Amino acid sequence: MRFSINLYIKKIIPSSLFFLSLVFSANAQETKKRLPIIDVHVHAMGGNPNASPMCPWFLKDMPGSGPNQEPPSFINTDCISPLQPARRDAEMDAAILRANKELNVTMVVSGDAKVIHRWHKAAPDHIIPSLGISNADQMTIEAFRDSLSNGFYKVMGEVAPQYQGMSPSDMSLDEYFGVAEELGIPVGIHMGTGGNGMANLTSPKYRASLGQPFLLEDMLARHPKLKIWVMHAGYPMVDQMIALMGANAYVYVDLAGFIWSYPLEEIHDYLKRLVQAGFGKRILYGTDLMMWPELLETSIGVIESANYLSEEQKRDIFFNNAVRFFNLDASKFE
Ligand SMILES: [Zn+2]
Repeated sequence: MRFSINLYIKKIIPSSLFFLSLVFSANAQETKKRLPIIDVHVHAMGGNPNASPMCPWFLKDMPGSGPNQEPPSFINTDCISPLQPARRDAEMDAAILRANKELNVTMVVSGDAKVIHRWHKAAPDHIIPSLGISNADQMTIEAFRDSLSNGFYKVMGEVAPQYQGMSPSDMSLDEYFGVAEELGIPVGIHMGTGGNGMANLTSPKYRASLGQPFLLEDMLARHPKLKIWVMHAGYPMVDQMIALMGANAYVYVDLAGFIWSYPLEEIHDYLKRLVQAGFGKRILYGTDLMMWPELLETSIGVIESANYLSEEQKRDIFFNNAVRFFNLDASKFE
């Protein structure tokens, strides 16, 4: 979700033990390989010695405060065992490798290029590098084309014009989308939530209204061959999301970020609504993993515990939909 990490670090969260037990008790045969999961939304970063622990679903109590008071912290320390951050690079690297091998999670990873290369080198079959750009000042169109053409990057994302005060249909990004369209590169675009107080606490250019899924329509019309997924599923604008997916047959969504930050009941209502509207084949699993490795198990547990989803629907979300969307070879995951 590209929450501003600074504010994030100061926050906190309930125990993931419940979810851990759900996740780990699944199959009787310990030796059996776990069913593969594709996490389409991982941020590459090292450890942070100053990071705080964090309680998931911390946005269940939005703080009440005023402009002339101390800025609110959305850390909720009131949970039994907050998730611990990786404080060193080696810790973070080890956690990712463990998720790749033991949890059988393959990740679409964007962010720090050095870290992406390091993770990719350690587990090339489980790391899908993604190149993010949210503003034309970050990279020339030529450099962007070269980077995507050399074969290392398979995906474009996280594209987050909302934090720059821009619509995804802003013409300054149009050529970049054109390159992705031409090269057949799928694109992940941040739309919707950013957490509490984005506009007045951490990202002054952020506008809630620029996360409206309908803002994608002009860009999609200009790039009929472009394949996009809407990161964070345009939360909380589910009506627009459903209408956009209905009008644009190739648009997918991911569930990243909001599944471990907003109240659980709210998350399930949102996911249920998308499935109920018929889009179970267009939902991708994503974590929005940052420096708290246990967010992986926490987020997987949310889907595992969704009693309104069939096993088949869960497998679609965890794996099958991403295989289809990213044109992956399912047999390579066996
Ligand atoms: Zn995001």
